[in-house]
Amino acid sequence: MIPSRILIVEDEPALLRGLKDTFVSQGCEVLVAQNGEQGLNMALGTNPDLILLDIMLPLLNGYEICRAVRESGREMPILMVTAKGQEEDIILGLNLGADDYIIKPFRRGELIARVSALLRRTRSKQSATFRFGDYELNLSAHKLFRGGKEVVLTAKEFRLLAYFVDHRGCALTRDEILNSVWGNSVIVTPRSIDRCVATLRAKIEPHAHSPAYIHTIRDIGYRFEDGGGE
Ligand code: CA
Repeated sequence: MIPSRILIVEDEPALLRGLKDTFVSQGCEVLVAQNGEQGLNMALGTNPDLILLDIMLPLLNGYEICRAVRESGREMPILMVTAKGQEEDIILGLNLGADDYIIKPFRRGELIARVSALLRRTRSKQSATFRFGDYELNLSAHKLFRGGKEVVLTAKEFRLLAYFVDHRGCALTRDEILNSVWGNSVIVTPRSIDRCVATLRAKIEPHAHSPAYIHTIRDIGYRFEDGGGE
């Protein structure tokens, strides 16, 4: 894992201890807050590289923290840790600016993988070329290559893929995708996204039935994974 400063906002002492140990053992600097108010103050005051954010917290809940952090203009990744499995709660958090979520109880390995993916994304965001598998996406030329040969995409497919790549490791709701890729200029439905994802998958996924890159998150949306684990 990229050595990072991680803020953990969690009110359950045993879980907080476990999370702290996990990231300290990964070489991270770990800051902790046990209620929402302290969490928000630390998020704004200590400039962490990533925030691990519980939703149900005393004084201020995770949604309010998420919203306030984004309103302050800060863009560090936020991973929601939630005990609730309800899709509406997850969608609300994602639409308020969280990047991804993990549901308690979770495996330590999965948590580390999700955090690593979000940190990698921040680290390499400026690059004009992005590689995944044997693909190379050239963001300035608006072209996708596979083993040096161009894979022809429609303008919409390219924008969707570029958006996915820019948000790799993030859970994306259909609303977020619609607003960012389609904008509000045309009337589209979530079905338009699904159709565009289907044609894009047909062009880039080695196995249509078990996608390696564009993963469906049931009832929520999609998550692009570059497969570059650590
Ligand atoms: Ca809690």
